[in-house]
Amino acid sequence: MYSKEVIKLARPVKCKYCNEFSMLDDSMTIVETQHKYAKDKFDPDGKKIRKKGETYSKKNKVHKKCATLFQKKVEDTKIENENWDVLCKYIEKLHDLTVIPKSNITRLKDLRAGFETKNGERIRKWRTGPDFSLMLDAYVLSELTIRNSLKNKLDGSNDVKSINYCISIMIGKLNEAFVRRRNRERQVQEQKLNKEVTIIEEISYTPKKTNSNDISDFL
Ligand SMILES: [Zn+2]
Repeated sequence: MYSKEVIKLARPVKCKYCNEFSMLDDSMTIVETQHKYAKDKFDPDGKKIRKKGETYSKKNKVHKKCATLFQKKVEDTKIENENWDVLCKYIEKLHDLTVIPKSNITRLKDLRAGFETKNGERIRKWRTGPDFSLMLDAYVLSELTIRNSLKNKLDGSNDVKSINYCISIMIGKLNEAFVRRRNRERQVQEQKLNKEVTIIEEISYTPKKTNSNDISDFL
């Protein structure tokens, strides 16, 4: 019994956040995460055992000190995936595609990682590239130019080359999209501040008012 216990405690586990091995003691904790199956899965008899889109949960062993950061990373990844899905749907509609060609997908994912491909060469341009939601904003900003190019220059084609041409147009609008996003965020921030000021004013003026029909302030 004693030796069994020792073996169990001595087995190190890998922290899902920092990838360091640790003993499974009270420095570790379990964070449960929800996932969706990406594909259907069948057993050898052809019976479906997993359905695409079905949710399942994972019990992740992480250090207690890593738990908050791990949860944030999971949440960020979820948002990133959702934004990627929205971007793909937009591009599919724009180019009338059922599936986006692999090389176009690679270019978009490279761009996200901070790389640009010029004349077949992969060059690091940013430390962290633009996120998928900013790419979507840039697409929307260049939609008219893209539609005109598709009609007049690209002969309505939706092949890899044509999609690539339009990705380049979108890249040209990333800076403008970024500035607009920053302005939007600033506006929201200012509105929040104004609201706070209003609330404070209301509170400080309330005791003065005896009733709403009191006109003494105007006399
Ligand atoms: Zn850790």
